[in-house]
Amino acid sequence: MITKGEQITTDLNLTAEVCVIGSGAGGAVIAKELAEGGRDVVLLEQGGHYTKEDFTQREDEMMPLLYEDMGQRMTVDQSIVILQGRNVGGSTVHNLCYCFRTPQPILEKWKREDGLVDMSYEQMLPSFERVEKMLKVKEIPEEQVNKLNHKIREGCEKLGYHGLVSKHNRENCTTSGFCLLGCPFDAKQSMLITYVPAADKAGARIFANCPVEKIIAQAGRVRAVEGNVVDALHRPRRKFRVEAQLVVLSAGAINSPQILLKSAIANGSGQVGKNLHLHPSVLLAGVYDEEINGYTGIPQSYYVDEFINLEKNPDTGYILMPVYGFPVTTATQLPGFGREHSEIMRNFHRTVGILVLMHDQSAGRVEVDRNGKPRISYTVNAREQQLFVEGMRHCAEILFASGAKKVLAPYDNPLWLKPGDDLSAIDQRGLRPNEIPIASTHPQSTCKMGEDPRRSVVSSWCQSHDLKNLFLCDMGVFPSSLGAPPQITTASIADRTAHYIREQWAQLIA
Ligand SMILES: Cc1cc2nc3c(=O)[nH]c(=O)nc-3n(C[C@H](O)[C@H](O)[C@H](O)COP(=O)(O)OP(=O)(O)OC[C@H]3O[C@@H](n4cnc5c(N)ncnc54)[C@H](O)[C@@H]3O)c2cc1C
Ligand code: SF4
Repeated sequence: MITKGEQITTDLNLTAEVCVIGSGAGGAVIAKELAEGGRDVVLLEQGGHYTKEDFTQREDEMMPLLYEDMGQRMTVDQSIVILQGRNVGGSTVHNLCYCFRTPQPILEKWKREDGLVDMSYEQMLPSFERVEKMLKVKEIPEEQVNKLNHKIREGCEKLGYHGLVSKHNRENCTTSGFCLLGCPFDAKQSMLITYVPAADKAGARIFANCPVEKIIAQAGRVRAVEGNVVDALHRPRRKFRVEAQLVVLSAGAINSPQILLKSAIANGSGQVGKNLHLHPSVLLAGVYDEEINGYTGIPQSYYVDEFINLEKNPDTGYILMPVYGFPVTTATQLPGFGREHSEIMRNFHRTVGILVLMHDQSAGRVEVDRNGKPRISYTVNAREQQLFVEGMRHCAEILFASGAKKVLAPYDNPLWLKPGDDLSAIDQRGLRPNEIPIASTHPQSTCKMGEDPRRSVVSSWCQSHDLKNLFLCDMGVFPSSLGAPPQITTASIADRTAHYIREQWAQLIA
């Protein structure tokens, strides 16, 4: 059963074998697999339970409803916006459905540098296959590649750059283009309509509007989880406490370290909250004579991997991706005022966006401020600033090659380029914080896996080095930047962990 906060009229005191915190790509998979394995599971989610009827396709209504901090979660210097979901199903409810398995060279790197065991590509295969089957992962049909994506593909093909049409987790997609605001047709196979209902069916008790404040540990074991039941405006109304034999923390790479730091647990290594990678991204926009209408159709289907070669070098590189925005988001991201801004927006329907997404070694940190809120710091290092500049030049080339009449690099003081212009103008502007919008949809690595308890927070099986009955399972456990879209990796690591917990149950709770 899924219980909403408004249905809870007294303080809640529950007991369970397993308490899972967070219902996104990590938590929903854990809850389903453990409930199906016969465990008594309580799943706690801080956000609301919304369904297709709630997804109105309006930015002004959906951004506050579905996103952490209304879509305005920022680094402390306000230079990077970080988008994360806050609802049953987590960020999978409004993600863009690219589906990629964990790159093999990254798994090899994690084994080599962090000592991960039993996590080769072959050993991950059963988890990849189970997850892909649940999420109905398949190739995006050629006829569903929209014009925006086609333009980027055309530019790449003319320049000889490698790209591909990716796989996705959609079924009977109407190509409405509203993925970022929740799918009103239940076509997107997010956790909301796959793993969460399956966990429910298997008997998990699911509570929405229940943000966890603290995990209580005593005598080397986790004992309970506490927090407040909140209303639609996130104001505390009741209290809850769940006593559990085992806890799985899956609140995402920002909120999981926040909870651990507030609870003062599982940080013997001092690594909780460190090593934050963001896959930061910067966009360029090309304006064409013809209509593009990039906001209709599947938003992202083409994927440019010319500038990343993980086999050759698993530590660096960048991906180029199509990007589009709804009118208000676009207007806030674009520079200029008055007539200049209005001129850009007038070309909204003729615009193609493309972004550079960095496989970053730059590392930031999540701490908690005196109110217990996450304090996120992150600086793009000098080398990656250079790589961004190189990537932005490639974006401009691609847009011009497919017929853009002008290209905008959205610096505060906008840089407009025309066909034939010297692209070194981008080098001169560079990438300095707060001069150009930077965004992240993939925060990761803040509670990393590893076999050395001095350098990592959890083991190769996502088990806390400090507390035997505490597991972490979300993007925070990646030992380094993934260098690929992360939802399949997150869900597959969760699947693998759930099967480990199922097999080791007696020892884990002894
Ligand atoms: C706009 C966008 C587009 C994306 N596009 C893609 C894509 O195309 N392909 C891809 O592979 N990946 C994509 N991603 C990333 C993908 O969605 C994530 O990798 C994945 O959802 C991460 O899973 P997670 O479990 O770590 O976190 P989430 O899915 O974010 O789940 C964490 C959950 O924990 C809950 N929570 C947080 N704090 C608490 C608390 N205190 N108490 C209780 N619950 C709490 C949150 O509300 C949330 O529901 C995208 C992400 C975004 C935001
Ligand atoms: S494009 Fe497909 S998956 Fe996205 S919102 Fe529309 S129907 Fe749903």
